[in-house]
Amino acid sequence: MSKTLQAIRGMNDILPTQAPLWQHFEQIVRDWLRTYGYREIRMPIVEPTSLFKRAIGEVTDIVEKEMYTWSDALNGESLTLRPEGTASCVRAALEHNLLFGSPQRLFYSGQMFRHERPQKGRYRQFHQVGIESLGFAGPDMDVEHILMGARLWKLLGISDITLQINTLGTSEDRARHRTRLIHYLEGHQDRLDEDAKRRLHSNPLRILDSKNTELQDLITAAPKLLDDLDETSLKHFEELQALLRVAGISYTINPRLVRGLDYYNFTVFEWVTDQLGSQGTVCAGGRYDGLVEQLGGKSTPACGFAMGVERLLALMEAQDRLPITPTSDIYLAHLGDLAQHFAVTAAEQLRDAGLHIVLHCGGGSFKSQMKKADASGARFAIIIGEDEVKAGVVSLKSLRTQAEQITLPIAQVAEVVRNSVN
Ligand code: ATP
Ligand code: MG
Repeated sequence: MSKTLQAIRGMNDILPTQAPLWQHFEQIVRDWLRTYGYREIRMPIVEPTSLFKRAIGEVTDIVEKEMYTWSDALNGESLTLRPEGTASCVRAALEHNLLFGSPQRLFYSGQMFRHERPQKGRYRQFHQVGIESLGFAGPDMDVEHILMGARLWKLLGISDITLQINTLGTSEDRARHRTRLIHYLEGHQDRLDEDAKRRLHSNPLRILDSKNTELQDLITAAPKLLDDLDETSLKHFEELQALLRVAGISYTINPRLVRGLDYYNFTVFEWVTDQLGSQGTVCAGGRYDGLVEQLGGKSTPACGFAMGVERLLALMEAQDRLPITPTSDIYLAHLGDLAQHFAVTAAEQLRDAGLHIVLHCGGGSFKSQMKKADASGARFAIIIGEDEVKAGVVSLKSLRTQAEQITLPIAQVAEVVRNSVN
């Protein structure tokens, strides 16, 4: 017997029962992005591997072990399924000269791919909505992004999401801090785990982001980047906080927030909830002023964030924010050739009038058709037999109330259905 085929581990189907929640989310997100003047950009899902290596950094979890990379059998080119959107977005902006003249407020959404251990809230194919503001230097844009997040949580009806912020300073700040940090960690070599030992000289800042509970004391007592910041970094961070206070946004400073991608500087932030277990970060972002230049463009300040759609939907579910599942207005049942011919045109006529019609297909008795009508969740059934066709009417029956079945001309159906409250 042949084995049944299954989807790849960590890559999920979104079934028709779940789709309404996704559509509800997508609708709210689209409207929300428009209210802030962000325009959509759609990039390919596959990019040259070198893009991510250059943008995200060679010594990051993503590039070291999470990317789906292969060599194109046709020409040997190394290709990668995108693990995130920022690198592709900046690549596209540069390739199409979007950055000449005016700064850009952009958004993208779609699948991302990372070879991680699948668990609740962590998948190998997952979805992000991300925004990128290219060409803005000041903390006013960082605050715009944070305000956008706060508004979206409200629009989605979810609560208990808190904001953590930090600053990563400039690359000079980080170089200074790195020396101090390495010195400190070298003093505690015996307590470091494998990952941390490997990172000690390549990416010591990332050790601060370790989820290993046995390292937490060591991390808490480590030198703080905040103490190594120069004046420009401090000024940006302080202005950001002043603006947040004016906007009435509460936040906590998390000095250990470093982010897993190398391109960040100055502001970084995460929106976190404690209602999703250990995968509690629903949205993360920050400033990446060096990335455009790093990818071959003119030095351009920029910042952005990406949210994890699966995690936000899980939170909406946990907080009972499920949308009412839309159903069709009418299930159209018919018996006999004459009735079927009439039904096809009647269904089109009702759709012209703006109604949602499921036309019965596949024959069968009225009884079996009515069972399907009930199961479909439609509000009404229309029944067309030869008698109805001859009399030029249809029978309309409510599937939700005890109301009597009525017969009426097809032209009156739309009005009756629209005026009924069920
Ligand atoms: P984490 O620390 O949870 O691994 P990250 O720092 O790798 O997150 P980012 O690259 O900043 O995540 O991605 C932004 C958001 O995308 C995350 O905050 C999260 O909500 C979501 N996300 C990231 N990786 C996954 C995944 N494998 N499955 C589902 N959602 C994810
Ligand atoms: Mg990760």
